[in-house]
Amino acid sequence: MSKYWSSIVNRTDPYVPGEQINDSSLIKLNTNENTYPPPESVIKAIQDEIGESLKLYPSPTVDELREAIAKAYDVRKENIFVGNGSDEVLAFSFMAFFEPGVTIRFPAITYSFYTVYAKLFNIPYEEVRLNQDFTLNTHSLFHSEGGVIFPNPNAPTGILLPIEQVEEVLLHNQEKVVIIDEAYSDFAKESAVPLIQKYPNLLVIQTTSKSRSLAGLRVGYAIGSPELIEGLNKIKNSFNSYTIDRLAMAGAIAAMNADSYYKKTTAKVIETREWLSEELSQLGFHVLPSQANFIFISHPNKKAKSLYAQLKENGILVRHFSKAAIENFIRITIGTKQDMITLLERLKIILKEKS
Ligand code: PMP
Repeated sequence: MSKYWSSIVNRTDPYVPGEQINDSSLIKLNTNENTYPPPESVIKAIQDEIGESLKLYPSPTVDELREAIAKAYDVRKENIFVGNGSDEVLAFSFMAFFEPGVTIRFPAITYSFYTVYAKLFNIPYEEVRLNQDFTLNTHSLFHSEGGVIFPNPNAPTGILLPIEQVEEVLLHNQEKVVIIDEAYSDFAKESAVPLIQKYPNLLVIQTTSKSRSLAGLRVGYAIGSPELIEGLNKIKNSFNSYTIDRLAMAGAIAAMNADSYYKKTTAKVIETREWLSEELSQLGFHVLPSQANFIFISHPNKKAKSLYAQLKENGILVRHFSKAAIENFIRITIGTKQDMITLLERLKIILKEKS
């Protein structure tokens, strides 16, 4: 193996996704998928696409889906870029807007893919410390040399940065691109999408994986000024003109047209989240105030790592991160109310056990 080749591959340890276990007896609460299925209309649209059309390439410009997304957000098709999951949209955004050698900033506790992309593309980064209560310290994001990226709500904390503070970050970074990863924003009170009209340097990234129950389809998108979207298209077309396939396209278009269904499932997730947070607080858990479809919790009498292991032994899969600052927390995806009742029952038993 040549030295040059291995130097590129060894720039970063790859992102390690949460466990994907095909065991239907487990209650799977570890990777923030939606607990509710996609609507029938989405499944039918995908089924209808299966046929002779598969011999043809999909549309490289993704016009129909971009129109559907634009309609859902009250923007124009020129404001929309579509990729193979928001992970891919994020990767293209790092390549398009962050420069090798110029330092970008993101929170020290955040989506761990950002460090992977930064290292892979030789982009230095500063991880800015959160406040004691895990909220974002916006001042530390002002006047970044190379740009800013953060999720809102943050992951894995679930905490939302209020829109006034998002705007302050934009005001103090007008020369740089600010990327807001809104994978979970449909479960939150507000989104930065309306700000794209005012800030041409703002790119908001969203996904059909969470609120639209389509993690298996891999469709994410960016919303921003036509200049930023053009930049993303240049990168995409230098890699793979047909990023999403015909089945994904058909399903995602149907999903964009199923708002009334998703409003109901999202409301149920939010209601369950609020109820569960209250129940867990009563069990002595420290529950961070979540605006996402997951919660991040710790318990004073129990190590999070053993909580994770004991829940797994008891048929419930949650997520534990070994990073020091958050090693006392576990992240739990909001499931159905029945799943959450089972979770609470098992937690009560586990808390009584020693260690
Ligand atoms: N951003 C954040 C903050 C996430 O938690 C995730 C899900 N792991 C993603 C982006 C990626 O989502 P997807 O690629 O499924 O659109």
